Amino acid sequence: MESIFEYMQKYDFENLFFCQDRALNFKAVIAIHDTTLGPATGGCRMWNGYAGELEAVEDALRLARGMTYKYAAAGVNLGGGKAVIIGDPKRTDREPTFRALGKFINRLGGKYITGEDVGTTLKDMEYIRMETAHVVTLPTYLGGAGDIAPMTALGTIRAMQACCNRVYGSDDLEGKQVAVQGLGAVGHNVVEQLHELGARLTVTDIDPAKVETMTARFEASAVQVEAIYDVDCDIFCPCALGKVINDDTLSRLKCKIICGSANNQLAEEHHGDRLEKMGLVYAPDYIANAGGTIYDTDRLGVGGVSHERGKTKVTRVYDNMQRVFEIADRDGIPTYLAADRMAEERIRQISEVKKYADDLGPTF
Ligand code: NAD
Repeated sequence: MESIFEYMQKYDFENLFFCQDRALNFKAVIAIHDTTLGPATGGCRMWNGYAGELEAVEDALRLARGMTYKYAAAGVNLGGGKAVIIGDPKRTDREPTFRALGKFINRLGGKYITGEDVGTTLKDMEYIRMETAHVVTLPTYLGGAGDIAPMTALGTIRAMQACCNRVYGSDDLEGKQVAVQGLGAVGHNVVEQLHELGARLTVTDIDPAKVETMTARFEASAVQVEAIYDVDCDIFCPCALGKVINDDTLSRLKCKIICGSANNQLAEEHHGDRLEKMGLVYAPDYIANAGGTIYDTDRLGVGGVSHERGKTKVTRVYDNMQRVFEIADRDGIPTYLAADRMAEERIRQISEVKKYADDLGPTF
C-alpha cells in the first residue's frame, strides 16, 4: 500500500482511527470498513512484526474488510472492523494497554466492537471490558459466550454436510473419510463431533501429544504432518494454518471436498480457480468458520446469551453454504468468488431496505 486514502477509496472504507499514548508506549489503529448492516465488529490483533506503520495500517484495513464479508455472508447484522495494536504480543503491561484501547473504543460510541484475535487473550478482553461495553469474546461470568471453538467446529461440520450433499447427494457423514489438519481448539472439537456422526478420521498435528489423545479417544489414525495432503479421503479439513492450498499441495490432494476452519486457506485467489477446474468442492473459509462468531455475537441483537438460539443460528451455516453453491451455479464462478458475491448482494439489498426512514425526524 502506497497511499492510505487510495487504498481506502479502492475498497470503500469508512474510517481509520489512530490512537497513541506516549507514557504507555501505546500505538493502535482502528479500521472501520462498512457499517451498512450494523456496528463494525472484529477482533484486536497485537503484533510487532510489521515492516513499518503502513503495513500495520494495511493489515487493520484488510482484516476489517474481511469481517464485513464474513458477517454479511453469515447473515449477521454487523459490519466489519478491526483493531491493530502495534506492540509485542508478549508485552506484560496488559492492563494499561487494553484499558487504553477500551477508552479509545468508547470514544467511537459503539460504531466499533472489538474482540480477541492473534496476540490477544480473553483476559485482555476483560481489561477492555473495564472501560467499554463494546467488546465480544468475553467469558461467561462477564456476560459473554465463553469458549466458542465448539460452535466454530459445528459450523464447519454444517458446511461439510452441505458440501457432501453437493458431491454425494446426501448430508450423511457416516463412513466418510475425513483428514483433519490441526487438533487445537477447533480441530479437536471437529474430530469429536465427526466421530459422533460416524466419520472415519485421519489426523495430524505438530504436537504429538494432541495426536496421541485424539487417536486414543476417537479411533482416528494418524499421519506425519506433511503426509496429511496425500491422504486418500472424501474431505480434507484444514484447522491449523493459512495458505495450505498452494502450488505444492494442490496436485497432491486426493479429496473431493475441502472444508475446514483455518483462515485464508487459499495461498492466492487463482488456487481457488484451480480447485474449481480440478472438480474439487471448496467451502470458502469464512463461510465454514463463521459458527463461533455467529454464536458469540448473537447476544448483541436480542440481549443475553442463549445457547439454544445461538446454536440454531450456527446450524444455518449449512444454508449459507447452499446459497454459495446457488450463486456459483447461477453465475458460473468458483465458490470463493460466489461467497464474496453473496456478501455484497446482501449489503446492497439491506442498504436499499434501510433507505426507508422509520422515524419522522426533521425533513427540512
Ligand atoms: P489453535 O492454535 O488452538 O490450534 C491450531 C493447531 O494447529 C494447534 O494444535 C497446532 O499445534 C496445530 N498446527 C500448527 N501448525 C501445524 C501444521 N503445520 N500441521 C498440523 N498442525 C499444525 O487454533 P484454533 O483456534 O483451533 O484455530 C484453528 C484455525 O481456525 C486458525 O486458522 C484460526 O484462525 C481459525 N479459526 C478459529 C476460530 C475459533 O473459534 N477458534 C474461529 C474462526 C477461525
